[in-house]
Amino acid sequence: MILPIIAYGTHVLRRQADPIAAEYPELEKLIANMWETMYNAHGVGLAAPQIGLSIRLFVVDSVQLEDDEEREMEQTGIKKVFINAQILHEDGEPWLYEEGCLSIPDIRAEVSRPDLVRIRYFDENFQEHTEEFDGLNGRIIQHEYDHIEGKLFTDRISPLKRRLLKNRLEDITKGKVDVRYKMKFPIRYVESNAQL
Ligand code: ZN
Repeated sequence: MILPIIAYGTHVLRRQADPIAAEYPELEKLIANMWETMYNAHGVGLAAPQIGLSIRLFVVDSVQLEDDEEREMEQTGIKKVFINAQILHEDGEPWLYEEGCLSIPDIRAEVSRPDLVRIRYFDENFQEHTEEFDGLNGRIIQHEYDHIEGKLFTDRISPLKRRLLKNRLEDITKGKVDVRYKMKFPIRYVESNAQL
């Protein structure tokens, strides 16, 4: 089932999300819905707060990028579910990459992050893993991990760039944005010429 994606400006995107237990109700169905919602919106990652759930769960599929010449993915993609993830360590030369976010449609900005991330997490079968990721895999994980910590990529751009984007970000909170997937906005926008 495709779920609406929560838009910038909504409180749930700003909360530090809670860990879940293996007995979390209908977890398998939730994960299936997250994959479906992410693919429908042409995303490479989706975190639970983006569908309104403040829990430490995100999904990543960078395999899709392997054949995408524009992104020049020079590594093997990953398709993984991350539950109760904890970043243990970040390392390596920070690099700039233009990020976007399904909760912040039509806005992209260069974000600098360290290249390598060491992360401990549980998979969809609640098996524990500690792994290192770098390149675009690491980048997507860092972006999604931010979501479960209540952070957004717009927090990591320069103050000048953020000022330049201010009006467009405000428009998103009001739903004044063209988007091809289902979204839920914090403020319902009413056209000024609407008949009330
Ligand atoms: Zn995002």
